[in-house]
Amino acid sequence: MTANETKERLSRLKELLAEVSDLRNAGAVLYWDKQTQMPRGGAPARADHLTTIRRLAHERFTAPEIGELLAELEDYERSLPYDSDDASLLRVTRREYDQATRVPKDLVARMSQAGAEAYERWLVARSERRFGPFAPSLQQIVDLSRELGSALSGPGADPLDALIDLSEPGLTAAALDKLFAELRDGLVPLAGAISEKSSEGRDAPFRQRFEPERQLELARAAVGAIGFDLDDRGRQALSVHPFSTSFSPDDTRITTRTNENWLGPCLFGLLHEAGHGTYMQGIPVRFRRGPLGDGASAGLHESQSRLWENVVGRSREFWAFFLPVARAFFPAQLGSVTVEEAYVAANVVRPSLIRVEADEVTYNLHIMLRFELERAVFSGDLAVADLAEAWNDKVHSYLGITPPDDLTGVLQDIHWTERFGGSFQGYTIGNVAGVALYKKAAEANPGMEQDWARGDFSSLLGWMQTNVHAHGAKFKPEEVLRKATGDGLTAGPYLDHIREKYTGLYDLDA
Ligand code: ZN
Repeated sequence: MTANETKERLSRLKELLAEVSDLRNAGAVLYWDKQTQMPRGGAPARADHLTTIRRLAHERFTAPEIGELLAELEDYERSLPYDSDDASLLRVTRREYDQATRVPKDLVARMSQAGAEAYERWLVARSERRFGPFAPSLQQIVDLSRELGSALSGPGADPLDALIDLSEPGLTAAALDKLFAELRDGLVPLAGAISEKSSEGRDAPFRQRFEPERQLELARAAVGAIGFDLDDRGRQALSVHPFSTSFSPDDTRITTRTNENWLGPCLFGLLHEAGHGTYMQGIPVRFRRGPLGDGASAGLHESQSRLWENVVGRSREFWAFFLPVARAFFPAQLGSVTVEEAYVAANVVRPSLIRVEADEVTYNLHIMLRFELERAVFSGDLAVADLAEAWNDKVHSYLGITPPDDLTGVLQDIHWTERFGGSFQGYTIGNVAGVALYKKAAEANPGMEQDWARGDFSSLLGWMQTNVHAHGAKFKPEEVLRKATGDGLTAGPYLDHIREKYTGLYDLDA
């Protein structure tokens, strides 16, 4: 192929991918509107809009022409450096194209049918607070998920690997085994030692009546301070389940919710979503309208949200800066609270039954037990019918508490109504990677935390922009981590950080 022919094919491929990206982003706008603005009556029509636009995006992306262009451009890709934009675009598109075309259409249809049924059975089981009514549906989801895994990776391969790979390119179940083993050894004793100290009353400063509108203003002040652009390139809204989305690096949306008797969910929720938002606002504009205009993986995305929510937002230095700001909004509630009291209130550890309510220390144990159960089911060591009991045993052995019923146990997450396997690990990867990246940024910027105490977060954000955001989706998460920290996915920095922080906070024996 002549250089000119190569150029033509590449620009044709980019044109096709740009249209797919437009369709996906238009779908994202519809979804955003659905979650934040749409009246309830709009639901049936909106479901049609979304189904059609997603189908069109899928058809366009899996069109044979894209496969042909990818094949014709293989030599060109090989002639380029691995980290060049064009080689990365071809590599990432091929990976996604292979995944999307390997799954038979009828399997997609059967999964969506089974998913709808499973969701109904899950609601019934939840209302009865027992696993029984959901179990047969879950068995179906497990079987279909195994089929999906095999379709993606071929017979003989571990289906769980393929399911994990969908959201964490390159990561395997074996690598997660290793990560969770490190976390188990470090966190189970730490959570146990903390639970022997009382957590009662520690978060009293944040558990008062705070006017919701003013909470929102305060949360917007916090995310503006850390460098999320809410003026020209971002918007905030309310939604039942907080989330973030982006239609281009210059148009990123975040949501939160309020609880009038607790400051935490609104403030930390918006800091979390703004962390995702900084990633999306940090993607180079040249990646817009293509597969590289995204984060590296769900887990790396979560590294940015947890960085700003937990590492920064729950630090002593952040509260040295932010407490005076918060006092100006809520003089009656916070006028006499000290920085130390606010720091303590922001970091309460209490073993809980519910994952989404879990704190920075116990959260990973919730993820670990889900992963272990998925692994046991796929290997045949655990029958789906025994899942509720196995769940309760694990909660007891890791957290020292027992769910009173299945609603607060195995039935709490919606994830297994859609797919079994590979949906949860991103949260833990985020916790672990967020701290590892922070440690590197701190090494490169000595005294960084003292800047936070003055309300200046630019050195941390700048480091993330250069070392994480600037790559878009060019590299696998492990590759991004190696480039940025010199190390792969490992729990070491996270465990050191957590041990040091909570040994001080809870006056534990070091
Ligand atoms: Zn998140």
